[in-house]
Amino acid sequence: MIDVKHLSKSFGDHLVLDDISEHIAPGEKVVIIGPSGSGKSTFLRCLNLLETPTAGTITFDGKEITDPKVNIDAVRRQMGMVFQHFNLFPNMTIRKNITLAPVRTGLMKPEEADAEAVKLLGRVGLTDKADAYPNQLSGGQKQRIAIVRAMAMKPKLMLFDEPTSALDPEMVGEVLEVMKQLAREGMTMVVVTHEMGFAREVGSRVLFMDEGRIVEQNEPRQLFDHPESERLQGFLAKVL
Ligand code: ADP
Ligand code: MG
Repeated sequence: MIDVKHLSKSFGDHLVLDDISEHIAPGEKVVIIGPSGSGKSTFLRCLNLLETPTAGTITFDGKEITDPKVNIDAVRRQMGMVFQHFNLFPNMTIRKNITLAPVRTGLMKPEEADAEAVKLLGRVGLTDKADAYPNQLSGGQKQRIAIVRAMAMKPKLMLFDEPTSALDPEMVGEVLEVMKQLAREGMTMVVVTHEMGFAREVGSRVLFMDEGRIVEQNEPRQLFDHPESERLQGFLAKVL
């Protein structure tokens, strides 16, 4: 589904991603772990072109999206992204937050989008919040809305950047549960997280990033129980 070849990204003379090549197959749940500043967010943001790679190519669903002629907005619509800080529109109801993009892009008529929003809210147990505003919701509720808002665009792939890091501990579980549900339904997912339990349970593959490179990757049990590189051993010793 995604093929990354020799991806590099610099900010000024600071090399943040250093020649990354990676392949993500349909249905995979790829979890990315690694220390702060290692380039995890930048990598995710390059995948949907929120950042422009300095070098290398990214192919998504058979199309080279790093080609300058490509319509970036059309590509992004097929990739849902969920951020640490929710990024809901504060001046709009939850219903409007969910229906805005599908209607504006012509994916759905307003009535269809509304029916879809109601269905999605039901799935995450928040039907009664349709006409509330984001500031009336808890952090965990906001993040569940952010996930279904992304899903309303019927993406082929979902990207998550530390979706539970800004939450109070008692709200982490409800958000991970929604992500697990998505995973069970077969969604292709790339998830940056510090939730090692989630990585172990849901990840089909875990990538360990350090200093702009993928230093080690493996299926979760192998990676966590038998880390090969010293850097991964050191990282796991701190976080587990
Ligand atoms: P992580 O998500 O693993 O914590 P990031 O991808 O956010 O790491 O950042 C990797 C490095 O790139 C950091 O040193 C960070 O300061 C730098 N960086 C990220 N975004 C920018 C930017 N827009 N401008 C300059 N430097 C940036
Ligand atoms: Mg980050």
